[in-house]
Amino acid sequence: MNYYGDSVNKLIEQLSRLPGIGGKSAQRLAFHIINMPKEEAKSLAESIIQAKTEVKYCSVCCNLTDSDPCAICSDQRRQRDVIMVVENPRDMAAYEKTKGYKGLYHILHGAIAVTKGIGPEDIRIRELVQRLDESIKEVIIATNPTVEGDVTAVYISKILKPLGVKVTRIANGVPVGSDLEYVDEVTLSRALEGRSEM
Ligand code: ZN
Repeated sequence: MNYYGDSVNKLIEQLSRLPGIGGKSAQRLAFHIINMPKEEAKSLAESIIQAKTEVKYCSVCCNLTDSDPCAICSDQRRQRDVIMVVENPRDMAAYEKTKGYKGLYHILHGAIAVTKGIGPEDIRIRELVQRLDESIKEVIIATNPTVEGDVTAVYISKILKPLGVKVTRIANGVPVGSDLEYVDEVTLSRALEGRSEM
């Protein structure tokens, strides 16, 4: 039944494709957007297009960025001999919020998940190996405390150790099975402090 007309239906359909948005939420968002001042709606649409066209991956750490290298990789005040490996940009943001970590990052954009057909070559492990040189003293693996995160950590450590770099894993203070982005800052800081060599 076409209650709302094609334009509204199309908007609802597009919104319902977003993760975590069911049919009811999509309707609610669609009507919210329609009732927005025109300028606000326009700026929302433009920011989607801008993010899609301007954002690229940092050629060093694979973070999402407008400028390459990204702000973190270009920041000379950061500790440049340690790299923290995380699954996604949201995990990096979670560690940045703790303000306790001043080193560099490497974003994998996923974790090895054999059951989902995601192998080592599908995430940014090759890029991590390529950026390692004598200047890097430690690689901290901060993948999520899930089966996939652990498998990924072990895989990376096996590749990096023969290269002579110290490889550590964040402590188990982080609840098992949780997403790092939802863990509070104190727990994250403790997990980092309590890291141990793999
Ligand atoms: Zn970067």
